[in-house]
Amino acid sequence: MSEMVCPNGFILAVEGLAKICIPDPDLYRRENGSYEPSWAPVFYNPRMVGNRDICVAFLKKELLESSGEAAILDPLAATGVRGIRIALEADIQKGSTTIYMGDISPDAVEVMKHNIKLNDVEGNIAVVHADANELIYQLARRSGIALGYIDIDPFGSPAPFIHAALGGVKRYGVVAVTATDLAVLEGRYRSKLFRRYGVAGVKAVQSKDIALRTLLSFVMRVAAIYDRYIEPILSYAVNHYVRIYIRVYRGGSKASETLHNCLGSIWCCTRCGYYIQQGDSSVDNVGCPVCGGRLERIHPVWICPIANREYLEKLIEVASEMPWLQKSSRALLESLYRTSAVNELTIRLTHIARAIKISTPPINTVISCLLQKGFIAVRSYTYSDGIITNAPINDVVECMKV
Ligand code: SAM
Repeated sequence: MSEMVCPNGFILAVEGLAKICIPDPDLYRRENGSYEPSWAPVFYNPRMVGNRDICVAFLKKELLESSGEAAILDPLAATGVRGIRIALEADIQKGSTTIYMGDISPDAVEVMKHNIKLNDVEGNIAVVHADANELIYQLARRSGIALGYIDIDPFGSPAPFIHAALGGVKRYGVVAVTATDLAVLEGRYRSKLFRRYGVAGVKAVQSKDIALRTLLSFVMRVAAIYDRYIEPILSYAVNHYVRIYIRVYRGGSKASETLHNCLGSIWCCTRCGYYIQQGDSSVDNVGCPVCGGRLERIHPVWICPIANREYLEKLIEVASEMPWLQKSSRALLESLYRTSAVNELTIRLTHIARAIKISTPPINTVISCLLQKGFIAVRSYTYSDGIITNAPINDVVECMKV
């Protein structure tokens, strides 16, 4: 059947409510059987279904509440799966919201057009063969189209597309960003981290949490150049990537205020994971109070909340009415809601336990103990040995020794 509906070299896949022609992985496998989506002429990664599930639910919620017309832009669209799913699943009224999709690859543009026809969504989607930055500038500046949502989902670092996206999105619009250069954002390559994102740092014990705050810091600093400021609605790090959804507002003095209030330092012990997160850069670096290790500084990072809890609660409701979404996507939203109760990083019990030379206690025992003491404490979704709590480290240690 797929031979009938898909071009040569492509096979049919079903994702969400969409039917998509994707490259046949068997044609690009190495001799040892391995396959990476970037080896095919058009990119499709089945490991990113969850990323797109949440994107579609997010847009469904945005569109339910939006007033006035605004376009959606997916300028790195590959097979077009994301935009097609938005058209099919996010309750877009035929003709009222236009989704623009673009890609620099002519092969991608061709298969994207094919996929649009296959799903009968030609009325909602316009395809442009263009460089992503040029497309954003062309639509926003030359054609005067109000871009209410821009999705930046490249292979690797999103940094080269952030200026155009932040400058091109309309007032109160949303920019969503995927970064798959997680190792850089986590601080594994210090000079690349500084070069690409302007952040000086190290790899911390809870490096995925810090990767999010590094990306948000970069995005906020770019926004400020255009007298804009951001509010993170939803941010998470899973598998091999980081994803953020930010609302973009205008105002020079508010941008300065946000830079002042929301950019700061994280001082962390790379041995046990103790940390301090603060705006004031001066810290009495007397060493780690848990294990005596040296505190390292990561700077400048986003230290304000990384999610809008109220928004998340409503997003979970919207997602619950979309039974075709993966269970794991809904579970992730629930976890994000739970962990957004406090603006803290993960404390990893195995690292603390090793540093203070005890065996790691059961995570639920530590959480119960902290709850009994009146603190907030939840499991981290990022690290299986992690908790997120507003309890001071002394209380965490006490609860680990019970
Ligand atoms: N968003 C897609 C999805 O959800 O399936 C995946 C996008 S894939 C990771 C990145 C795409 O960006 C590729 O199709 C590639 O051809 C395209 N690309 C790379 N550089 C670009 C540029 N400067 N402008 C436009 N497209 C570009």
